[in-house]
Amino acid sequence: MQFKRRDFVKTLGVASAASLFPIVTGGCSSPKVIKNGKMKLSFRAYDLQLTHTFTVAGFSRNTTPVILTEIEYEGLVGYGEASMPPYLGESQESVTKFLTKVKLDQFNDPFRVDDILTYVDSIDINNRAAKACIDIALHDLIGKIVNQPLYKLWGLNPAKTPLTSFTIGIDTPDVVRLKTEEASRFRILKVKLGGGNDKEMINTVRSVTDVPLYVDVNQGWKDKNLALEMCHWLKEQGIQFVEQPMPKEQIDDMAWLTENSPLPTIADEAFQRLQDIAKFKGVYSGINIKLMKSTGLREAHKMITVARALDMKVMIGCMTETSCAVSAAAQLSPLVDWADLDGNLLIDNDLYEGIKIIDGKVTLNELPGIGIRVI
Ligand code: MG
Repeated sequence: MQFKRRDFVKTLGVASAASLFPIVTGGCSSPKVIKNGKMKLSFRAYDLQLTHTFTVAGFSRNTTPVILTEIEYEGLVGYGEASMPPYLGESQESVTKFLTKVKLDQFNDPFRVDDILTYVDSIDINNRAAKACIDIALHDLIGKIVNQPLYKLWGLNPAKTPLTSFTIGIDTPDVVRLKTEEASRFRILKVKLGGGNDKEMINTVRSVTDVPLYVDVNQGWKDKNLALEMCHWLKEQGIQFVEQPMPKEQIDDMAWLTENSPLPTIADEAFQRLQDIAKFKGVYSGINIKLMKSTGLREAHKMITVARALDMKVMIGCMTETSCAVSAAAQLSPLVDWADLDGNLLIDNDLYEGIKIIDGKVTLNELPGIGIRVI
């Protein structure tokens, strides 16, 4: 697939058009001598085409808007991505507006990651995906400068990556059966519930496979007693945990459910930033970290540390994203209990090649940074 340079919406700093999105042959460059260069940020809008209409409790869609970023420094390029599923409130317009305010050329040392990302976070509140696409590109750049994948820089063992689940959205039994059959190479499935046909969904998946299942209710259960009843039933069907069973506002009901449920409960929509974790101790069994919520890798890494200190479970997930953001999240996966890193597998027009799922397992590579190359 070729990049169409005319599709670029913005170029910041003084990067020349010729330097945009070059093919990076990762793993071949030698460690870069740092001079007094400037970082140059550029970005463009892109629409991900979903292979199947994606339905969860609340809405359906066929595309996901993203913004793709590059940070260029001394001839190397770090890649990043912001994904904006509509329910999170960001859009290509809002991310563009945010990125236009970011002045990276004030920094001449990309290793000042903490300073740079603290500055980016301070520009405006929210805008989490917009912040993530800078964080990811900066981490990718750092890895390329030292010519190492991030997981190695963090001292992580690539053999400890988890299996990933593959998501089956809410649909009719015929479609669910077909999607489940198509997903036979995965050893765990995540089934979306909360659409009013929960038992039909599970029974249909179970008519095809007996692999372990996760379920994600996307806030779909409003009544705590019915939620507990479902948790007991789901336990009998081989379900491992329940993600965001109840509306995020029903905190007392959630704490009651977590105390009584035979299955662990995981916060997703309720949980965004690092400072949220401590208040969820006792309300949920664990958290679902996504780079588009955490503002990227820097804070996601801290979240894992804090959650472990609170004896909470950790899951790492994603939005529908290209292999760029998914491969970035996968760099942290040796640290988590559960992974749901299938976002790039749900689209038809990925622009990158990155981590692979081999025999259901998240499989890291030796490419530097976030581990991708442009297709
Ligand atoms: Mg979820």
